[in-house]
Amino acid sequence: MGTLWYGAKVRTLRTEDDIQEAVYVENGIIQEVGEKESLIRKFEESITDYQDVSGGVIYPGLVDSHLHMIGHGEKLQRLDLSEVTSVNTLMELLRQKAKELPEGEWLIAEGFNENLFTPAVVPHRAELDEVTSRHPIVLTRVCRHAMLVNSYALELAKIHKDTPNPPGGLIEKDTEGLPSGYLHDQAQEYVRDVMPSIDSTYLERALSDSLEDLWSQGFTGAHTEDLNYYGDSLLTIQTFHKIIDGEKRKFRANLLVHHEVAAFLNERGFSYGRLNNTLEMGAVKIFADGALGGRTALLRQPYSDDPSTSGVAIYSREKIRHIVKEARMLNMPVAIHTIGDLALEYALDAIEAHPCPKGKRDRLIHLQVTAPDLLKRLQKLPVVLDIQPRFVASDFPWVEERLGSERLEYAFAWNTYLNMGIKCAGGSDAPIEPPNPLLGVHAAVTRRKPGQSHEGYYPNEKLTLFEALRLFTVGSAEAISKESETGLIEKGYKADFTIFDQDLFDLTPDEWLDVKVKKTVVDNSVMYEGK
Ligand SMILES: [Zn+2]
Repeated sequence: MGTLWYGAKVRTLRTEDDIQEAVYVENGIIQEVGEKESLIRKFEESITDYQDVSGGVIYPGLVDSHLHMIGHGEKLQRLDLSEVTSVNTLMELLRQKAKELPEGEWLIAEGFNENLFTPAVVPHRAELDEVTSRHPIVLTRVCRHAMLVNSYALELAKIHKDTPNPPGGLIEKDTEGLPSGYLHDQAQEYVRDVMPSIDSTYLERALSDSLEDLWSQGFTGAHTEDLNYYGDSLLTIQTFHKIIDGEKRKFRANLLVHHEVAAFLNERGFSYGRLNNTLEMGAVKIFADGALGGRTALLRQPYSDDPSTSGVAIYSREKIRHIVKEARMLNMPVAIHTIGDLALEYALDAIEAHPCPKGKRDRLIHLQVTAPDLLKRLQKLPVVLDIQPRFVASDFPWVEERLGSERLEYAFAWNTYLNMGIKCAGGSDAPIEPPNPLLGVHAAVTRRKPGQSHEGYYPNEKLTLFEALRLFTVGSAEAISKESETGLIEKGYKADFTIFDQDLFDLTPDEWLDVKVKKTVVDNSVMYEGK
């Protein structure tokens, strides 16, 4: 009882130029890789399934090392306004969306930015009322500090002309003294309070949309962090169990566990390791700081473009140490969000004080700003750096103003990390960035946006295509200490394949973005088939 995959180039990623002809699989495990004819001769008796890929290239299954699956699913369902540059287009998109929704359902769209409109003015609620009076409409601004709603939503939220501003919030009024529909900061809570609550149907829909989308982009797995954002963490984890059942729907999902719910879930039997055939619990997630955009990433020296701040520590140095200690009591590795260099220092202090359990690895997520002394400490630890190559394409050039040239030498320094022998895994942080792995690979190799022609931001830090693909295969496997099971096409490894219609090694970076997924194979089962 075995399957022979053939009819395509097999890029094992064992080395940069290793190309084979066929893969023979039994019980979901690769038995041998090699020439088609010799595999047929050797396994003729046991091959029951001949899978002719008919062209294209078989790669090891791609795994996104950091994203938020449910958040990605929510984003797919909600209208994305971040690229909308005119009010006309905005209204047209809303009209289309309203037609698809059953009467009374909320029309939620995200990420509008009036600075892209001419003139740069936020529309009035009356303009939304013209779109539909049968759905409450909520448009969140790109910064998430404000939202625009229609009259229906105002009514449900009981916001009228005499409603006082809540502490920390503002209900904007128009020239007639009536609410304009534009709500700032805490005033948004009035609307959020009456929006549909999160229940199992909501979570299941978001997760299954996300799953379908990730398969279609060639992903065979992901390390995802969702467990503390949707009310009941047990319900969230049960939803994962139901949607990714490991039988009909296979996807190697590793669930990071927010530290606030780690002990709670542990007591209820959700401990580190296997949950089903393809689902498992991963490390304890801890936030050490914010992000560079809002100057909340924690830096050793003040921001170059605002010397009044060095960012925000989510927890004190001592508190992070304590949280890591608690994770160790559960025998779990940690995954710490660190963007600034001081946040990294806090994280290193904590990990060194309370070392990772034997045989496991900690991870540090994002690692945007580092320093030579911190990298030397990282070299000595069982850690993987969980990097998001796309942030280089998205965050430059504005990030240069935030950090200044001196610090930039050790910022987003992917090649430096790899050259120092520090392990790196590649992710997208979807829904922040699109999950498309080809965009991630493109950014790692070119350090610029598709279509641009400059030499890339800090070109010394560019990776080769081989290195970039390894981030999403071997690197993701290393992040969960599974590099002897997944990440390569090799005897003894799991039969997880991403099959593209063309070989990336034959194309220029901008051409990669036209490459199509032919099949996504998890545990020897086809989970997605391209048209
Ligand atoms: Zn994230």
